[in-house]
Amino acid sequence: MKHFFISELTEKINQEVKLYGWAQSVRKHKEVIFVDLRDRSGVVQVVITKANQEININQEDVLYIKGKVKNRPGNFVNKNLPTGSIEVEASEVKILNHTRPLPLQVNTSGYEINEEIRLKYRFLDLRRPRLFRNLQFRCRFIQTIREFFLEKGFIEVETPILSEATPEGARDFIVPSRLQPGNFYALPQSPQQYKQLLMVAGIERYFQIARCFRDEDPRADRAYGEFTQLDVEISFVSRDEVMKMIETMIIEVYEKLKIPIKEKPFPIFTYQQTMRKFGADKFDLRTEKEKEKNIQAFAWIIDFPFFKKTNTGWTFTHNPFSSPKPEFMEDLLTKRNINEILTTQYDLVCNGYEVGGGSIRNHHPEALKAVFEIMGLSKDEIESKFGHIIDALGYGAPPHGGIALGIDRLLACVLNEKNVREVIAMPMTSGGKTSVMNAPSPVDEEKLKELGIRISV
Ligand code: ASP
Repeated sequence: MKHFFISELTEKINQEVKLYGWAQSVRKHKEVIFVDLRDRSGVVQVVITKANQEININQEDVLYIKGKVKNRPGNFVNKNLPTGSIEVEASEVKILNHTRPLPLQVNTSGYEINEEIRLKYRFLDLRRPRLFRNLQFRCRFIQTIREFFLEKGFIEVETPILSEATPEGARDFIVPSRLQPGNFYALPQSPQQYKQLLMVAGIERYFQIARCFRDEDPRADRAYGEFTQLDVEISFVSRDEVMKMIETMIIEVYEKLKIPIKEKPFPIFTYQQTMRKFGADKFDLRTEKEKEKNIQAFAWIIDFPFFKKTNTGWTFTHNPFSSPKPEFMEDLLTKRNINEILTTQYDLVCNGYEVGGGSIRNHHPEALKAVFEIMGLSKDEIESKFGHIIDALGYGAPPHGGIALGIDRLLACVLNEKNVREVIAMPMTSGGKTSVMNAPSPVDEEKLKELGIRISV
């Protein structure tokens, strides 16, 4: 293992060091070769003099260098580089691995390169310092969030990936079962039902950095297929308490990570006010100057209508598991004034994006049943699709509520990236192809047989 990173070299003047990394650039002069050696922490200039010049180093070859750290003469100091005041005089140079000619440049921002190519060669694309910093920051961000919740007595619980469909308004990804041919699992669009079941189980304070799967039509500002959600559920809690808890978490985490927030406490708008003022339920409260400084502007939206009309009847606007505001419970149970029922849903927006949403849930089985009845589900459908959770609510479910925040989108906002793919290690293309690996792809006839599946397209 190497013992330190290039960024630490400025502390090692006149010391003999062993370095490992990639040749970011190679400049050959008559007497010397200059190599900019890069590791994940930075770049340093290595000077290779005569004795080692037999070696033919190409850009992005992997190198081992032994040498002495020297201060550069005053007029050769490069003020643009953190290690610009030093260089390493190599006494030994080894090429640990040659590279083939690269299919894409890795020392630019990368924005100028076609995305299909970047994702096909994501293992090279990730060599760009910008993407390394994004991944490193992502790790710290999630870690800081975890610390907040653990300190408040929350438990992180993993919930199943192979599961049954749970409605969040998208299509499911389905997985065929070998043991029960003709039957399918669905990948969870969110852990919604599991986290509610955990409340019935008495967990009281749950969170999870959860992977969710939604087969939505590709949208420029979303990751297709899978995304990461901070999922939270709390028992014995009011709407305002959930909002306060999440707001406190964001403020504490952002302060720790030195990310500026425009307005605290976060402004709250009703859905009606939002539509009147902004004409949409996402909006950007920042001035042009604040946008330039990449300040984060959060706001809450509350008091959404519970249902919206479809061609054939009604469907939920956000989440069927939400409870109406208490003053509308009677209307829900008696199925009256449906278009006037307001939900306890709260959405969080930041810099023009919806970054989260949640609600207080229906903890009485009759209330949840009434939602599905209003949506026109038959008794049998309700029983087969949601019987398990309606049943569970009947066994002393505590009042509870929660929220989920989109980690990828929050990070893209903080890191000032337009596209969430810039903050995900191995995202899919907008057309639903995986990075590097070739999925989706056909499977052998043999496997299909085992699953009892015949392809008809
Ligand atoms: N399950 C919801 C979602 O994923 C969030 C929530 O209500 O907690 O959008």
